[in-house]
Amino acid sequence: MSNKHVLVLPFPAQGHVNPLMNFSREIAKHGSKITFVSTDFRHTQMMSAMAPRKDSLLSSEIKLVSISDGLCPEDDRNYFRKLFVSILATMPTRLEELIRGINESNGDGKISCIIADGNMGWAMEVANKMGIQGAIIWPASAAYFALTTRIPNLIDDGFIDSNGTPMQRHAIQLHSGIPDVYPQNLPWNCSADQAIQKSVFDYFSRCAQALKLADWWLCNTAYELEPAAFSLLPKLLPVGPIMASDQTRNVGGQFLPEDTSCLNWLDQQPPCSVIYVAFGSFAVLDPIQFQELAFGLELTNRPFLLVVRPDSCNILNDANLNKYEGTRGKIIRWAPQPKVLSHPAIACFISHCGWNSTLDGITGGVPFLCWPYFADQVLDMKYICDVWKVGLGLESDQDGRILRGEFRKKVEELLSDESIRARSLELKEMVRSVTEEGGNSCRNFNNFINWLKKG
Ligand code: UDP
Repeated sequence: MSNKHVLVLPFPAQGHVNPLMNFSREIAKHGSKITFVSTDFRHTQMMSAMAPRKDSLLSSEIKLVSISDGLCPEDDRNYFRKLFVSILATMPTRLEELIRGINESNGDGKISCIIADGNMGWAMEVANKMGIQGAIIWPASAAYFALTTRIPNLIDDGFIDSNGTPMQRHAIQLHSGIPDVYPQNLPWNCSADQAIQKSVFDYFSRCAQALKLADWWLCNTAYELEPAAFSLLPKLLPVGPIMASDQTRNVGGQFLPEDTSCLNWLDQQPPCSVIYVAFGSFAVLDPIQFQELAFGLELTNRPFLLVVRPDSCNILNDANLNKYEGTRGKIIRWAPQPKVLSHPAIACFISHCGWNSTLDGITGGVPFLCWPYFADQVLDMKYICDVWKVGLGLESDQDGRILRGEFRKKVEELLSDESIRARSLELKEMVRSVTEEGGNSCRNFNNFINWLKKG
């Protein structure tokens, strides 16, 4: 069996680049060369976030390259309509050109397999056209994969119309073991603007169709976390949580520089004392909500570590950070999150429940307070609170804000609940065991590696 040259293509967003970078590192350990393809815009961010430690953070087996997403550098990548339309119009051709260039050069050998994010499912059309093997990896839950890829069923059952617009107010129940999901939380229902919704829906429909061309469907989850979802999807194989115990998680894929000073700060805090608060790469806080959070944390009388990205709250600037830190807090712009959540000083995680953050918290054995923002985060919250029972939801007021008293009350309730803590530790142990020799995720991963080497 020879070593192979694999091309890995994440969707150009943080919650996609990180798990695919982690997966690339795992594959590279087994001898394959990886060409990791970002968009030019994200590539520039990653390079600047890594500087000046770039050389020590990059693995020699993983080459970072980029192609255009078709937008200008100053365009807003969170403006979904433009982004999704532009990706489809530009990237398939650019990807093909990139692969031809690699295959004609005498460098690391020809590309033998494309591993694409499920949200870049169209790449399987490119693989198919070029006679290259293809695999997709889904970076969110298996249940959400089932929802987003069963578009014809959702239309037939009357949940959405042929433009993706929600048609019913009641929730979709895929299976008795899967929490229900409102059509409003499907990924393309991200805007009240019908044109945006239609563009995003068309994008997902194309990807769902193209996924069928892939030889493998992998998912960053564990069978044991969501067995009911796997009963619906015999082809989907869990390989997660990718690198459950590895301290190099997210290294090389971050868009913002990690503030590692928080690790020394955590070392000085008592065990199981710190509230960690982070909302992933996308969520934004209005000024009133931010102040309620800051005052709520202060009211808990506990140390807290709060991540506020530079673009997520416009009243917080580097000059007034200390004002909100109070006597016990630390506010940073981006954390080395997996390391933070595995630190013994962490008591709980106030989270937006993005799937990667959910896995980071589970892997660290940390209880959650859930504050979902949109899309699959609402489903993830239901898994956390109702299925695994390792967290509580935060209730908002009539204006949709969570007030300071609610933060204080729920932190106390969560931290005084021994059974939640015990279940969090059991879940931690479970996800550790599935990624070790003999575990389901480990076995699927090894089978995939053997296939990759043979191909
Ligand atoms: N993350 C991080 N530092 C932070 C906050 C988040 O490294 O301060 C990482 C986290 O480990 C995860 C990703 O950013 O890999 C966020 O993905 P998630 O699915 O949780 O949320 P999204 O950003 O997609 O909303």
